Amino acid sequence: MNNHVSCRNFDVVVVGAGSAGIAAAISAAAAGARTALVESGPLLGGELLTGMTIDGAINARGEQVSGGVLDRLMERCRDLGGFVRKLNDWRLIRYVAYDPEIMKIAVAQLVYEQGVTVFLQTYAEEVVESEGRVNGVVVRNKSGRTLLAAPVFIDCSGDGDICAAAGVKMTVPENGELPQPVSMMFRMAGVATGPLLEFVRANPDLLALGESDAIRGGRTDAEIAEEIYRQGQPCVFLRGDRPLLASAIERGELYPTALIMIQPTSEERREVCINSTRVSLRDPLQTAALGEALRELMNQVRQCAAFLKKSVPGFEEASLSGLAPRIGIRETRRVVGEETLTSADVRAGRKRDDGVAKGCHHIDIHQDGTGQIRIPVADGGSYDIPYGCLVPQGIRNLLVAGRCFSAEREAHASARVMGGCLAMGQAAGVAAALTIRQNVDPDVRKVDVAQLRQRLQDAGAILQGTH
Ligand SMILES: Cc1cc2nc3c(=O)[nH]c(=O)nc-3n(C[C@H](O)[C@H](O)[C@H](O)COP(=O)(O)OP(=O)(O)OC[C@H]3O[C@@H](n4cnc5c(N)ncnc54)[C@H](O)[C@@H]3O)c2cc1C
Repeated sequence: MNNHVSCRNFDVVVVGAGSAGIAAAISAAAAGARTALVESGPLLGGELLTGMTIDGAINARGEQVSGGVLDRLMERCRDLGGFVRKLNDWRLIRYVAYDPEIMKIAVAQLVYEQGVTVFLQTYAEEVVESEGRVNGVVVRNKSGRTLLAAPVFIDCSGDGDICAAAGVKMTVPENGELPQPVSMMFRMAGVATGPLLEFVRANPDLLALGESDAIRGGRTDAEIAEEIYRQGQPCVFLRGDRPLLASAIERGELYPTALIMIQPTSEERREVCINSTRVSLRDPLQTAALGEALRELMNQVRQCAAFLKKSVPGFEEASLSGLAPRIGIRETRRVVGEETLTSADVRAGRKRDDGVAKGCHHIDIHQDGTGQIRIPVADGGSYDIPYGCLVPQGIRNLLVAGRCFSAEREAHASARVMGGCLAMGQAAGVAAALTIRQNVDPDVRKVDVAQLRQRLQDAGAILQGTH
């Protein structure tokens, strides 16, 4: 292995190319910064490519709360002929469903068009830090080791790798609680929506429905099932504690799970994405345990697909059409920032003058086996994520965005979804571009938040005017 370290200079280095990282890189580059995007995987997009819907972008009242990069992505997916729909889940939220295969192209196009320098299959493994400043990030790929130097860095690694390596204080689930389980998302094509929705209409008792007052709007379960039927898309949440799934779990035909969530990804392929499999790990950062979990997750995928084909109308002719490119990890380390988003902020839908992104997803904590905590935001509204949540304590030139941002556990369980991650990434990218204009010792804490908010709104971010 070549240990020689070469050096490249940029204005902004972003580590991790998931929702947060691509939004950060696109936004920093759009604001004129020479931007590098480092991704350990083979594609750009992270969890955006798995087939799940974008949650946290439209609140339960139907107001869009994440804009800018999200709008550009949706527009590009549409231009490419991809499936994109804003839908009501008739349970707790509204979301954006899209085709993940088209999303792979859309993400890459936007990133390259913006002039971002991409390092694929490149792992950020070391931080060169002194006196509260990151001087560089050492990355490794097949060409060897390279020091990426810049005045500002953004950690969008999901796990907070750069912050942890720079010595930033991190938190993990407290009081012996297990982190949320890991899952393998998968897709099935050839699903007949008509019979599936007839089944929904005839069996509201088997479904998760109207868990937020803003979505229920005084309707009975039967009336909600009718609305799902009228919406005409396969948006179905089968409950683990109702007879259909519970008896299959009892018989050992299905692993214990809270829900089988079915969401559309393509009308052309008559395809849906399934979110249901789960394995609880004490620490998903332990690679050996993650490797073991893959075996069980693959068994669960096969069990779930077989169960749907056998027991759920509309799936008779369906077949497995895609698996997520990797195990999905919901929860690991969180950064301790200048500010911390609290559970109370989320529950109350708190607004702030220093908000640079919004979230609106319910507090959504998947648990071991059949458990899941779901607590909606008050009145179906949204809350603000203040700039300080993107500013790790103790380092002057490092920002964080996405799953590892600074939040209490319950608040994290809401803001971790992709609408919020895109918005946080956009805010971090624009903040980084503003920071590099400071001539002496650039310091992310000196960013003028009012100016940042203005720049973000100019770029399409939604920071006010919503419940
Ligand atoms: C199973 C599952 C289901 C979910 N369902 C939904 C849903 O339906 N809707 C929704 O909106 N959200 C959902 N979420 C949550 C959401 O997908 C994630 O929280 C969100 O996508 C995180 O975005 P991110 O950019 O922070 O991280 P990621 O998308 O994970 O991106 C981080 C990127 O950084 C890269 N990386 C990590 N470390 C390094 C390193 N050291 N060097 C270089 N690159 C690195 C990774 O390869 C990855 O591509 C789900 C999550 C899971 C796991």
